[in-house]
Amino acid sequence: MKRIVELKPEQISRIIRSQIKYYHNAIEQTETGFVTMVGDGIARAAGLEHVMAGELVQFENGAYGMAQNLEENSVSIVLLGEENSIAEGSTVRRTGRVVSVPVGEGMIGRVVNALGQPIDGKGPIDAAEYRPIEAPAAGIVDRQPVKQPLQTGIKAIDSMIPIGRGQRELIIGDRQTGKTTIAVDTILNQKGQDVICIYVAIGQKRSTVASLVETLEQGGAMAYTTVVCATASELAPLQYVAPYAGCAMGEYFMYKGKHVLIVYDDLSKHAVAYRALSLLIRRPPGREAYPGDVFYLHSRLLERAAKLSDELGGGSMTALPIIETQAGDVAAYIPTNVISITDGQIFLETELFHAGIRPAVNPGISVSRVGGNAQIKAMKKVSGTLKLVYSQYRELQGFAQFGSDLDADTKARLAQGERIVEVLKQGSGCPVPVEKQVAILYATVQGYLQDIPVVALARYEEELYRYLDENTDAVGVMEAIRVSGDLKPENEEGLKAVLSAFGEKFRG
Ligand code: ATP
Ligand code: MG
Repeated sequence: MKRIVELKPEQISRIIRSQIKYYHNAIEQTETGFVTMVGDGIARAAGLEHVMAGELVQFENGAYGMAQNLEENSVSIVLLGEENSIAEGSTVRRTGRVVSVPVGEGMIGRVVNALGQPIDGKGPIDAAEYRPIEAPAAGIVDRQPVKQPLQTGIKAIDSMIPIGRGQRELIIGDRQTGKTTIAVDTILNQKGQDVICIYVAIGQKRSTVASLVETLEQGGAMAYTTVVCATASELAPLQYVAPYAGCAMGEYFMYKGKHVLIVYDDLSKHAVAYRALSLLIRRPPGREAYPGDVFYLHSRLLERAAKLSDELGGGSMTALPIIETQAGDVAAYIPTNVISITDGQIFLETELFHAGIRPAVNPGISVSRVGGNAQIKAMKKVSGTLKLVYSQYRELQGFAQFGSDLDADTKARLAQGERIVEVLKQGSGCPVPVEKQVAILYATVQGYLQDIPVVALARYEEELYRYLDENTDAVGVMEAIRVSGDLKPENEEGLKAVLSAFGEKFRG
């Protein structure tokens, strides 16, 4: 049965009135242009007269691009998506905003691509907000000196090349020298340290990234880590964008007063991707065919790492960029650039790595320009002697071949040096808490290991750590060092007693 609703005149007029009240006649106007050329991951478009540098533009097929070269009659656009269905004459429209990525707590524990979209199959990400990938670095007054340590858990680094929160420390070395391992171990060691980690993989194989994510997951590190991934098979523009995207995600937390650690693995491949992109959009090539602004490429990225002033919440972002060298050539273009931008570098050497000295850190040419201020006092006390004795050992090493002709003092120094080298060895995936590092290094420099054969040192170390966990006196001393961060006279006495007691037990 049909029902006819009859409206009274006043009802009709009410409806009309409400319709008029909520009528918006806003006209959305976007500038559109058309594609004149497309190929190799770039497109050229005409008609986008007011487009901004770095602006996000959208093609007819939904794919995004980033405006790069703004020329007189055309714009060069690097594609951030599929170029397949973009044809000559396709329309392209301005979006009015620069390329941005989602940021916030929702990103933690996720694996995302260079645009912040999830690729781990765990569903959509609940983003707090969007941040532009390019942002100015914190100014001078917004910063304060680096003063808190960022413990890597790696003995050779925490003792001799300490890293502070807000520092930029380069990890540099040839291929397969353990660069990624140092970064990953550092991430693993941030468990319970209230540091949010971001690992940016640039131009790596997918399988490498997959196994890295698995390592992080097994170590419980994905609970505080985001992995940003632009693999070798992805377009050069995406590889170019990835580190800036990771940086924007880190900045969100830094400006919220939190501590962030970001790893760029690696910037050599990043520079190569940028070179490919620049050549395609016909920027003039310079040295090694890199474009003229390749220094700025990395300086503007690494300058965004900072230790913020207390007024701004005191947050920090520590950057560990990685550079791969060819045959140890640190004087090549990209390595020298990044060395000059960072606050120090950790040099890894193939010869050391193959000689079984792992991590293959060359302490002679590795430096940390600001981290020493951030070292805890206990470690500072121990490492001062360690560095001195170690460098003396390296000078004396040349004489070692004379064997029995050496005087007793030289022999003792050589013996101690060998023990230092042995003690600084460390496997991958087993970071050591700082108070235990203090204990083992104290034993090394104070001569507790003199009568222990070098081959037995690995076992000594392992058993010492167990003893430090189990013996009640030792637990007290470790606790005191951890809480105070210092090796006060009474703690030092305690540590001596613990080491003597353990030494006797070990020899027995
Ligand atoms: P690539 O140039 O391929 O990126 P890389 O310099 O990042 O290599 P890693 O991938 O970290 O090097 O390490 C290379 C190999 O050496 C890995 O198999 C890793 O397990 C091993 N390795 C690294 N550090 C150590 C260590 N301290 N102890 C034992 N093995 C290690
Ligand atoms: Mg690597």
